[in-house]
Amino acid sequence: MKRGFISVCGFILMLVSLTAGAQEQKTSAAEAAPNAPTGSLEIYFIDVGLSVGNATLLVTPSGQSVLLDAGPEYAWRRVAGTLQAAGVKQLDYIIITHFHSDHFGAARKISEQFPVRRFIDHGQSVELGKGDEWWRQRRGPWFKPGMGAKYDQAYRDYLNLSDKRRETVTPGDVIRLDGVEIRVACAGAKVLAQPLSGAGQPNNACDDTDRRADDDAEDGQSIGVLVTLGKFRFVYLGDLTWNVSKALFCPTNKVGTCDAYLITHHAQSLPKSLGEYYYGLCACPKAEVNALQPRVAVLSLGALGHKAGTSEAMQNVRGSPRLQDVWQTELITAGGEKDHNSGQELIATIKGGGGQNEPVRFIKLSAHPDGSFAMSNSRTGFTKNYPAPDSTH
Ligand SMILES: [Zn+2]
Repeated sequence: MKRGFISVCGFILMLVSLTAGAQEQKTSAAEAAPNAPTGSLEIYFIDVGLSVGNATLLVTPSGQSVLLDAGPEYAWRRVAGTLQAAGVKQLDYIIITHFHSDHFGAARKISEQFPVRRFIDHGQSVELGKGDEWWRQRRGPWFKPGMGAKYDQAYRDYLNLSDKRRETVTPGDVIRLDGVEIRVACAGAKVLAQPLSGAGQPNNACDDTDRRADDDAEDGQSIGVLVTLGKFRFVYLGDLTWNVSKALFCPTNKVGTCDAYLITHHAQSLPKSLGEYYYGLCACPKAEVNALQPRVAVLSLGALGHKAGTSEAMQNVRGSPRLQDVWQTELITAGGEKDHNSGQELIATIKGGGGQNEPVRFIKLSAHPDGSFAMSNSRTGFTKNYPAPDSTH
C-alpha cells in the first residue's frame, strides 16, 4: 500500500457497481480451457503503473489461466490488455492475495471483460467495520475522513461480485490445474503447519531476522503461493509482513527453494524511526529470501517507489545466495529502491506517465518442467534464458 509513505496497500478502493460480472462457468478446472495452448507455463508480471500494486497472469501449458491479484482499478486496461496479448478468453481463477485496492481494485472491471469461474481469497477482511481512528493510525498523512466507510463498501462490492463463485483457502490447500499446482503456504495470518514435500531444512538466516510488531491489518493476511510445473517453482507471498514471514520460514524453511520469486510487498521497507508498528510492516527478511534462494526475482513497483522507505528489502533480495537477476515492471526514480535498479534491458517501463492509456507492458516468464525458463521484456523483446539447475553443473 503506501503511496510513498506507510504501507498499506490500497486504501482508495473504488469498486462501484458490481453487478454485471461474468456468468458462472459450469466447467471444472480439470476440463480443457478455451484459451489457446502455449506449451509452457507463462507468467506475465504486468506493469500496473506509478504506485504500488500487483497483477500477475499465469497461463498453463494447456491454456488454463489464473490472475494472481487483479491490480488497482485505474490499471484495469493494462491488465485487460495483457490478458488479450496472452490470448486469454476467460479466467479459471482470480486469486486475491489480500483486500487492498492495489491488489483487488480492478477485479470488477476485469470480470466484466472476461468470464471468471472462481474467485479465491483468504476469508473476511480484517479491515472491515473499523472506525476513522483505526484508519488514521494506519494511514498516517494519507488518512481521509470516511476512509473506513469507503473501504467497507469496496469490500462488500467484492463480496457481491464473487458471491457464489467465491472460495476461501487456508495453508496446505492445493489448486490443481493441468500440469500446474498452486500450493497455499500462508493465508489469513496462518502458515503451513508442516513443511511442503522436500522442504523443512533448518534456516540459518533466522538468527539475522528479529521479531517486530505484529500487523493487524490486511497485508499480514496475504495468501502466499508456491506454483510448480514439474521442477520449476515460483513463489509469491502477496504483501506478507515481517512476523508472518518469519513464522513460515523459521526455525525451518517450510516452503523450500524456488526458481522465480515475485518480491514480497513491492520490496517495502520502512525505517524504525517511523515507529514499531510500521517497522513490522517491512517485507523480505533474510529468513525469507535466503530460504527461497530464487534464481530470478521480479519487482512489481511503480516509478515512485516508497518515498519514506529504506532499501533493506532490496538489499536482502540482492544478497540472497543464488540470485542472478532482478527484473522490474518499472524503473524506480524515487524512494528507498531507486539506488537498486537493474539494467534497463530488465525493466519493462523506463519512463511511465501513469495514465490509463499507457502502453501495455509486462515482464514475461516462460517455464518448462525441467526447471529451465526464459524471461523477456515486452518493451524491447530482450530475452534471457535460464537453464535447468542440473544442467549448469
Ligand atoms: Zn500491495
